[in-house]
Amino acid sequence: MIDATREAQDRAERLREEIRSFYDHVLPDDLKTRSRRHQVLGKSDYVRWMRLLHEQGWAIGHWPREWGGQAWTLLERFAFEDQFARLGCPWIIPFGVKYVGPVIYTFGTTAQKSRFLPGIATTAEFWAQGYSEPGAGSDLAALRTEAVRQGDHYVVNGQKVWTTYAQWADWMFCLAKTTRDEAPQKSISFLLVDMRSPGVTVKPIATMDGYHHVNEVWLEDVRVPIDNRVGEEGAGWTYAKFLLKNERTAGAIVGMAWHALERLKELARQSGRASPRLDARIGELDLRLMALEEAAYQAVESMMRGTEHGAEASLIKLRGTELYQHIAEATIDALGVAGVACDTEALHAGGLPPLGPDDAGGIIKDHLYNRAATIFGGASEIQRNIVAKTVLGL
Ligand SMILES: Cc1cc2nc3c(=O)[nH]c(=O)nc-3n(C[C@H](O)[C@H](O)[C@H](O)COP(=O)(O)OP(=O)(O)OC[C@H]3O[C@@H](n4cnc5c(N)ncnc54)[C@H](O)[C@@H]3O)c2cc1C
Repeated sequence: MIDATREAQDRAERLREEIRSFYDHVLPDDLKTRSRRHQVLGKSDYVRWMRLLHEQGWAIGHWPREWGGQAWTLLERFAFEDQFARLGCPWIIPFGVKYVGPVIYTFGTTAQKSRFLPGIATTAEFWAQGYSEPGAGSDLAALRTEAVRQGDHYVVNGQKVWTTYAQWADWMFCLAKTTRDEAPQKSISFLLVDMRSPGVTVKPIATMDGYHHVNEVWLEDVRVPIDNRVGEEGAGWTYAKFLLKNERTAGAIVGMAWHALERLKELARQSGRASPRLDARIGELDLRLMALEEAAYQAVESMMRGTEHGAEASLIKLRGTELYQHIAEATIDALGVAGVACDTEALHAGGLPPLGPDDAGGIIKDHLYNRAATIFGGASEIQRNIVAKTVLGL
């Protein structure tokens, strides 16, 4: 399947075995059951989960050894995200360990590294990503938040939007314009904002599943010490792009699609709804999953060899999120009556008994939330543009 070195393959396979054993013997039953049912997890659940991963040395396994990581290969990194998703485990919150941590150890000062990296590794501090703004999502360079220098501080004004879990965050990494120069390459800086600073207001946005995942973050005369700027003033676009490259290593999407498809197959068998038409639908989804898996392994391999064309991550994101949505639609159909109502009570322990199987409410909730999967992390149209340009030369 993959032509990576034998040693890299062995290490990745060993990691998968360790993760399966962790799932069987270490992961507490309540987290296992709630995530199997796609129930809503709170901040304390996610912190507990991230700390368990850290205790195994996995939360920052991809970091260099110098900063406490294990210097994983890309194949191990893929195996880590993929295997946990296959087991239906909670989301591995990326904002600290995957996004801002690598920016800080690559471009930060010594003081920033010792101040922030330990808290990121242990999730002692929870992070949010303050990139998107109204009018600056796909076209991120159009952002308008401004940071004006006053002595040893910046005074920041602007609005961020869709900021996931800002309501829980201690810190937000944030892009802001430090000069009015039009070129983003010269005008944007990468700032670390303490969410307890005066002038920071977090306003919830309810998503279609009825829950509170995302927010508006208003910044009004927020004072950010110059020492909390990562790297050079005006060079933030470089760090922002470095981070986006990490955002697009979407290893989990293959495992998530696999897990969802296995559940669909099981439901089709158990519900007595097996029919040639449902079989054909599952068969088509299965073929698409096989193609996705193959493409993902090829992408990892070419990235490890340094022969990638640059659109691999876009292809996987595009195909993976669309496939995941189509599997969810087929699953909702296969649930029959239980697939009609979003039974929110069933998503909390001690609620009403669910309609149908005990994960039905959660499957619907996830389905509604994951309509956004083809928007966040780079919308599908944007990924298609990248593929068209890079692969097809259009
Ligand atoms: C649930 C959720 C969680 C999120 N979490 C975060 C977060 O934590 N932090 C953060 O910073 N951001 C977050 N985002 C924001 C996300 O990154 C943006 O929504 C995304 O980049 C799209 O930007 P937009 O919403 O402004 O849509 P727009 O960029 O306005 O796009 C609208 C539509 O136009 C299409 N379009 C835009 N430009 C082009 C083009 N050039 N060619 C063809 N089609 C185009 C898009 O594909 C899309 O269909 C989140 C979003 C969602 C929905």
